[in-house]
Amino acid sequence: MGNVSEFFGINVFNDSVMQRMLPNDTYQSIKNAISQGTSIDSSIADTVALAMKNWAISKGATHFTHWFQPMTGITAEKHDSFISPAENGSVIMEFSGKELIKGEPDASSFPSGGLRATFEARGYTAWDPSSYAFVKDGTLCIPTAFCSYGGEALDQKTPMLRSMEALNRQALRIVHCFGMTDVKRVNTTVGPEQEYFLIDKEFYEKRPDLIFCDRTLIGAKPPKGQEMSHHYFGVIKPRVAAFMKELDEELWKLGVLAKTEHNEAAPAQHELAPIFTTTNIAADHNQLTMEMMKKVADRHGLVCLLHEKPFAGVNGSGKHNNWSMSTDTGVNLLKQGKNPSDNPLFLLSLAALIEAVDKHQDLLRISIASAGNDHRLGAAEAPPAIVSMFLGEELTEILTAVENGTHHDDLKRVKMSMGADIIPYIRKDNTDRNRTSPFAFTGNKFEFRMLGSSASVSDTNTMINTMVADVLMGYADRLEKAEDCIAEAHNIIRDTMKAHKRIIFNGDGYSEEWQKEAERRGLLNLRSTVDAVPHFKDNKNIELFERHGVLNRTEINIRADITLENYSQILNIEAQTLIGMVQRDIIPGIGKHIEYLCRLAEGKKKVCEGIDITTETDMIKRLSNDTANLVKLNQKLRQAVKSAENISDLEEKARFYHDEILSLMEDIRSITDAAEEVVATEHWPYPHYSELLFKI
Ligand code: ADP
Ligand code: MG
Repeated sequence: MGNVSEFFGINVFNDSVMQRMLPNDTYQSIKNAISQGTSIDSSIADTVALAMKNWAISKGATHFTHWFQPMTGITAEKHDSFISPAENGSVIMEFSGKELIKGEPDASSFPSGGLRATFEARGYTAWDPSSYAFVKDGTLCIPTAFCSYGGEALDQKTPMLRSMEALNRQALRIVHCFGMTDVKRVNTTVGPEQEYFLIDKEFYEKRPDLIFCDRTLIGAKPPKGQEMSHHYFGVIKPRVAAFMKELDEELWKLGVLAKTEHNEAAPAQHELAPIFTTTNIAADHNQLTMEMMKKVADRHGLVCLLHEKPFAGVNGSGKHNNWSMSTDTGVNLLKQGKNPSDNPLFLLSLAALIEAVDKHQDLLRISIASAGNDHRLGAAEAPPAIVSMFLGEELTEILTAVENGTHHDDLKRVKMSMGADIIPYIRKDNTDRNRTSPFAFTGNKFEFRMLGSSASVSDTNTMINTMVADVLMGYADRLEKAEDCIAEAHNIIRDTMKAHKRIIFNGDGYSEEWQKEAERRGLLNLRSTVDAVPHFKDNKNIELFERHGVLNRTEINIRADITLENYSQILNIEAQTLIGMVQRDIIPGIGKHIEYLCRLAEGKKKVCEGIDITTETDMIKRLSNDTANLVKLNQKLRQAVKSAENISDLEEKARFYHDEILSLMEDIRSITDAAEEVVATEHWPYPHYSELLFKI
């Protein structure tokens, strides 16, 4: 690979390619659609399709696909070739405007909740021109939205695009009140930091739990965990470095702005952060990033685990969703500037976030609910299930001053001395670094840290955009009526602080005290997916999403149902996998060790008559006892899975999986993990955590 600037985006049908290959008026109309969110005139579709096809063929593509994100969390593709039969048995390569704009995949193969019956599984995909098409593995991929024939969103992108519109509508009103009349569009921006684990494929292939569930269902703790944090920002191992280099190159070719890579807190854990971009592009790029991570890892004899908690007792993986709002004139509404207290638009934007997060804690929690993420939240290394906000001392003081009508003396900016004169003074960031907060202001943006590593960023951003749009709508109603915009902005901030400041918490979110304090403040604590998801259907939420045209009642019901169904399915697979592992591998493995102990005791007796063999006999008794318990629990688990399958109500079923099945699985695990510590490695059927995490 040569100079990065020479190959960055070479597989993307991006602005410069379009400018080069399209007639000027066509190019302008696409450009407007992208920057202003307007719809594209279908008459130009043929022209674009032709250019796209010629470009794609020059990149070696033979097929095209509408690339979309059904509610499975991963992307879907259905490849069609460009080939069309021509006269005298030859072929020509064809691709029409119609094929570009609209596709009709079989919707029945994707989750659609109750819609399946009503709409006979008919659905269509529609081109999203705001995210560039690209060539991947010889296929032209066209980013699309996926809807039912009745127009109900069946994917994650459609509601997100709608929520971006909703936010734009309200934010425009606000900036116009502030005299920024040249602003034509306010976009939300996202930079998702992606955490992941890399393990050796050879070990992976020996673990049915990793193969089927992407996480270990059993596994004794290694002697060395992350206690010493050697791994964090440590030197990257050559094999991992080679993977990262190739991953970067692959992503750069696809126009993904992969930027920083470093080791994370847990052994074998890493992170990739891209440069932020418009929300829907960020979402598409994150899907591509996850896909490429898996592919590139495979080429290096590695496996990339994107599960939120692949190893118990070791840090889980998240996806920090960095979020802000930005005008088409280049103003970041969450940029505080030199004197935040003299920046009413910034303070008002901050207030909007405070009100939105306080009012809709449930939605943020719901947006990240999954079986995998439940294992991570509140595990003393990830945000608790309680949503709160970190603003840092200074901003909290400024807002409190507004609330109390006092003046805040600006910026006691602290300079930080590094102790050696040669190192320049670094201004101490006044937002500090609080890594325990689920929703933290980190300078210019908010960082939402509850999102799980395997999830799409779409749902979370649909929620954030909509709830902020709703608050901004209320603010705009007031500002538009006010004579003095700045004075009214102050009033709004004051009122917001009075009503919603309980959501602000600058302390340690991992601590026990916070759990109690949060309860005193009346904050929600929706511990599991089953506790959280049913609230999606609350009237408050249906009204919110309908008010802004983001999701209707039917769509919300479908989404809640799919999440719960998914939850039960995942636990079902996990339970079945565990049953098989215990039955076929673990019990026989323990048996082998017992057999060995018996032989050992026998042999000892033969060699030295009267020798004490209580160590062996005690262990034999203990392991036999363990085996008996495992047989019993496995039987119980098998029955529980059967009963679960007979529950038809989705919520009740998910609740049963959570309460009964998950806890039985934990009981089994406590026995197998203890056994793993005493059984000889040669008798234990699976690679240990120490191998998975340290041998790479
Ligand atoms: P840290 O790991 O300390 O949180 P990083 O630099 O790794 O910080 O990640 C910060 C992320 O935030 C990057 O992906 C960056 O692009 C993103 N980001 C920065 N500014 C904005 C913004 N205005 N809107 C959205 N994301 C942003
Ligand atoms: Mg971060």
